[in-house]
Amino acid sequence: MRTEFGVYTHVPFCRVHCPYCTFYTVPQPEAAAMGRFARALQREWTLRVQPRLGRGDRLATLYLGGGTPSDLPPHDLVALLAAFAADVPGGLHAVDEVTVECNPESTTPDMLRALRRIGVGRISLGLQALDDRDLQVLGRASDAAANRAALAQVAARFPTWNADLILGVPGTTRARLESALEEIAAAGTPHLSFYCLEMPPGQARALGDPLTDASEGFKADLYEFTSEWLESHGYVHYEISNAARPGHAARHNGAYWRGVEYVGLGPGAHSYAGDERRANRADLAAYLHDLEAGHEPGASCETLDTGARRREHLLLGLRRRHGLEVASLAPRPAARILESLQKQGLARLDGGRIRLTPRGWLVSDSIVLQLLAA
Ligand code: SF4
Repeated sequence: MRTEFGVYTHVPFCRVHCPYCTFYTVPQPEAAAMGRFARALQREWTLRVQPRLGRGDRLATLYLGGGTPSDLPPHDLVALLAAFAADVPGGLHAVDEVTVECNPESTTPDMLRALRRIGVGRISLGLQALDDRDLQVLGRASDAAANRAALAQVAARFPTWNADLILGVPGTTRARLESALEEIAAAGTPHLSFYCLEMPPGQARALGDPLTDASEGFKADLYEFTSEWLESHGYVHYEISNAARPGHAARHNGAYWRGVEYVGLGPGAHSYAGDERRANRADLAAYLHDLEAGHEPGASCETLDTGARRREHLLLGLRRRHGLEVASLAPRPAARILESLQKQGLARLDGGRIRLTPRGWLVSDSIVLQLLAA
């Protein structure tokens, strides 16, 4: 049977390692080493994606993330996408959504033009903040001026794009957040991803977050404020960390949340097919070695059991505004738990569905635990 699927590729290079980051990344090497990586990625595509396309499966979404894909030398980035495009009937223009993550320090008009020409229709821009004090605390490689310039370059060339924003940087203020939201919206940004800063306690304290009830409460306030601000400015807060103007919700991530199959390429990338989960080993040297020897990269595989499936169903369903059908929860949670969530303003029940409110999303992990224990 022919199916639709997505492809995620992980490019692990970064100019700096931001202290809060939990992704698998390595320091940016010289250009030749990045070219070698791009060729290995192309081989993995040949081994794991080409056969699916050959039997008629349709590539619905392609997402280049990381790490920092825009740190790849432009020639290698375009050559990689051209190699992918050659296997897809109709090229990348025929794929529903092709996104490339870019960081402001490596975004240039030439690179954006080249991406657009080859069929990339969406950029996800790692702004994180538009204030130099916040960017410095976050240890980012770009300053506010570079962020503004990159936002303007993307806005001038792409029909749709995302901007990432981090909430609750130690020492920040609500006024800084509001001014960033105003600037991002004024640039016409159709999609925003926003996250409360989270990291292990030792690192958080090193960055100046005392992790007290007051600092946690401040982050929660900023999250609810962002949700309300976006909703009152034409965006729909459609998922725990994402808001979009109508017609601009992310299709690739939407496919994750709906359980559509995807193939993850690159070191540390995850793949999903039915109950099977696969994670490529997060080790660049081993990844290159395996692919240059002509075989698939080492990976760990897992088959979900009933408990893990139930947990995933809840986690993925409750993170979306659309919520879940209560009847799909087995066993069905006790009515008193659902009523209590509603009374606390954490969830809404209507039309047989349970949907978390923004306040509920702030404590969604504990709500999932409550529902699993029910
Ligand atoms: S640039 Fe992004 S992926 Fe790289 S270290 Fe910073 S947060 Fe992590």
